[in-house]
Amino acid sequence: MTDKTKWESLVAGAGCPLDAPRPPSNDHWDLIGQLSVSSLYLAKNQTYRGQCQLVFDTRHVARVDQLSRPEWSSLAGDLFTAQQAVARVVKPDHVNIESLGNVVPHLHWHIIPRYVGDPMWGAPVWQVPLDSMPDRRLPDEERAALIAQLQKALAGPVTDMTGVGLTSRWVAANRALETDHASPLYRDPYARELAGEAGFDVLYSMRTASGMGSFSGPDPYLTIRTRFFDDALLGAVRDASIGQVVILAAGMDARAFRLEWPSGVRLFEVDREDVFTHKEDVLKRLKASPSCDRRIVQRDLAQSWVSALVGAGFDPKTKAAFLAEGLLYYLDESAVVSMLDALRDIAAPGSWLGVDATNPEVLTSPFMATYLKKLTELGSPWKFGMADPEAYLASKGWQATAVYPGESEANYGRWVLPVVPRAIPGLPRTFLMRATRVAGS
Ligand code: SAM
Repeated sequence: MTDKTKWESLVAGAGCPLDAPRPPSNDHWDLIGQLSVSSLYLAKNQTYRGQCQLVFDTRHVARVDQLSRPEWSSLAGDLFTAQQAVARVVKPDHVNIESLGNVVPHLHWHIIPRYVGDPMWGAPVWQVPLDSMPDRRLPDEERAALIAQLQKALAGPVTDMTGVGLTSRWVAANRALETDHASPLYRDPYARELAGEAGFDVLYSMRTASGMGSFSGPDPYLTIRTRFFDDALLGAVRDASIGQVVILAAGMDARAFRLEWPSGVRLFEVDREDVFTHKEDVLKRLKASPSCDRRIVQRDLAQSWVSALVGAGFDPKTKAAFLAEGLLYYLDESAVVSMLDALRDIAAPGSWLGVDATNPEVLTSPFMATYLKKLTELGSPWKFGMADPEAYLASKGWQATAVYPGESEANYGRWVLPVVPRAIPGLPRTFLMRATRVAGS
C-alpha cells in the first residue's frame, strides 16, 4: 500500500480509534463529559495543566469542511463551551486550540492551556516529537478533582448561587443588553455588573437551547416585560398614591435605584439569601443609592415570609403595590397557592398587583422541550402554568387583566411575530397581568 492509499483509507475511517463509541478511559485520556456533538477528554499528560481533547462524536469526519453547516455550528458551540470551562478552571495565561489530525484523521481539537514559562512557551507544544515531550501525570486524587471541576464548569456557570437564584442574573444580563440597544426601552446602569459573567452564561445557554444561539440583541419578551411593569408599577403608585411597594422575587431588579419614585415610597425586595449575597455586594461596590426607602427581606416565598415583611416595616392595613415578575414559573402549584393566599391576607383593598405567568401548554409543548430540559439542567425547572389567568387571580381576590406580548399595550415596536388570537386553544402562551385587590374577597 502506498502512503497515499494508506492515508486515504485512514481518512475514510478504516480502523479509526476516535470513532464512537470510545472507552471513557484509555492510555491517553479520561472522559470529562459529552457535549452536543462531541465529547471532552482530559489528557493523561498534564504538563500543560488542563490539556483536553474535544472529539467529534456523531460520525467519522476528517476535516471541518466535511461537516454540514448545522454540525459545524454545534461543534463550534461545543468548542466554545469546552475552552471556556477549561480556562475558568485552570486560569491559564493563554489557550492554544489546535485541530491537526494528520496522525489520526478524525475531527478533534486539542485544547492546550499555556502558562508563561511553560516547557514550550513562545512556540506550539508540538514543535518537538511526541515521545520527547515532557510527560507529567497528576496523582489520582488531584486528577479526579480536576475532572470534577471541569464537569461542573461544563454544566454551567461557576458560582455558589442556586440555579433558581441564577435566573435573576440571566434577566439582568438581558437588561444590560437592552441598555446597550440603540433605542432602549429603559436603561439599567447596574444590570451588567449584577448579571456578571454567570448571568451572561445562562442567557447564552438558554438562547442556544431555544435555537437562537447566534442572536445577540436583547430578548423581546424579557425587554417588553420589564418596560411594561416599569410603566404599570410606577403608574399604579402615582395614580393611587400608594406609599409601599413590594417586589416579590426581586432578584437583580434595580427599580429601587433606577426609577423615579414619589417621595416617601418605601420599597421592599423579597428574595432568597443567595440572591442578596450577590446583589448587595455588587450594589455596594457600585456605590448605588436608592431613590426610595429600600428594605430587603431575605425569605423563601414558598415558605413563611409575611411576618418578616411586616417586621421590615410593611403595613398590611395600608394599600400597596406588589410585583411578582418572572417568579411563578419556578414555583410548584402548592407554593403558588400558598404565596397568593398569603398575599391576599396582607393586600389591603385597592392594592395593585403585577405578575406574569405562562399557560400549562408551555410545560408540555414539544416546541419547548429543549428549552425546558436546559432549565432543568441549570437547576431552575419551570413548574407552573395557569390556564385562565383572569379567573385564576379572581379566585385569589384580584380583579385582573391579562395582556399578551405583542398586543398593542405590550409591543413597543419590539414584537415582530404575529399575535395569535386568544381564542385559538392549545398553544403555549405567556401573559402579563395587572390586577387590583377587590374588597371583601
Ligand atoms: N423579578 C426579577 C426580575 O425580573 O429581574 C427576578 C426574576 S428571576 C427570573 C426569578 C427570581 O425568582 C429569582 O431571583 C429567584 O431567586 C426568585 N425565586 C424563585 N423561587 C423563589 C422562592 N421560592 N422564594 C423567593 N424567591 C424565589
